[in-house]
Amino acid sequence: MEIYRELAGLRAALEAARASGREVALVPTMGALHAGHIALVEAARRPGTTVVASIFVNPRQFGAGEDLSRYPRKETSDIAMLTEAGCDLLWLPPVEQMYPDGFATIVSVSGVSEGLDGAARPGHFDGVATVVAKLFNQVRPTRAFFGEKDFQQLAVVRRMVTDLDVEVEITGVPTQREDDGLALSSRNVYLSPEERQRAVALPRALGIAARAIRGGSDSAKALDDATAALTAAGFEVDYVALVDAETLSPQPTPGRRRQLLAAARLGKTRLIDNLAVDLG
Ligand code: AMP
Repeated sequence: MEIYRELAGLRAALEAARASGREVALVPTMGALHAGHIALVEAARRPGTTVVASIFVNPRQFGAGEDLSRYPRKETSDIAMLTEAGCDLLWLPPVEQMYPDGFATIVSVSGVSEGLDGAARPGHFDGVATVVAKLFNQVRPTRAFFGEKDFQQLAVVRRMVTDLDVEVEITGVPTQREDDGLALSSRNVYLSPEERQRAVALPRALGIAARAIRGGSDSAKALDDATAALTAAGFEVDYVALVDAETLSPQPTPGRRRQLLAAARLGKTRLIDNLAVDLG
């Protein structure tokens, strides 16, 4: 796997790949990689495709008092995992490369960014949209892969790509989970062993609520029950919401798919998860 930390080198390598007829696929990450990230690399791999992963802990998507300074960094094992997964190229830009002195542009996607995590983490999705727009311009992929684990992020990226006519096809990859159902996340390392055991309440509460709503139960009651189950497990709940899977509007349009989304804190760790209500 080739590794680049400087834009000119990255661009030259990708120009050469494109000139030889290869397609370029991008998997953006913040590192501390796990099997969820590797599923994205595997989805991106295809004959004739150069798979680029990026690792950049983007300061602009962390709010004041969030975990930027303690976010896990594991460059050596990340490189080993990406090499093993068959990733061709790793883009590892330093912060000064992404945000040089004088940087003054923000990409802000209204609507789909505003509720849920957008409300709980002001400015977060501006940071995400800005860095993803930059990555798209730096790498110029024809395909890019994002996890459904970050469901709202995926919706924000899709909206931005449509609105800005970015020539990239976005693929959402299903959430990879531990055996007990907890979604894999770089932030799971923050959980104490005891919190890790209680964390399973999050996917369980979503599963129970999704089945109840699917079965015709009152959705407000299902959301209340999920919130109560999370609180009983020791979570502080930010939100449990049923939304339109495309617009993330809390008033799902009849006939359109619905998604359950939740965010909750266990001690100092904030976890998110989501589940499709309408299957098939
Ligand atoms: P992150 O490094 O947390 O910014 O995540 C980088 C990409 O990996 C994002 O598109 C995430 O949605 C995706 N991702 C993170 N965790 C998972 C998971 N458990 N399953 C699938 N994709 C994931």
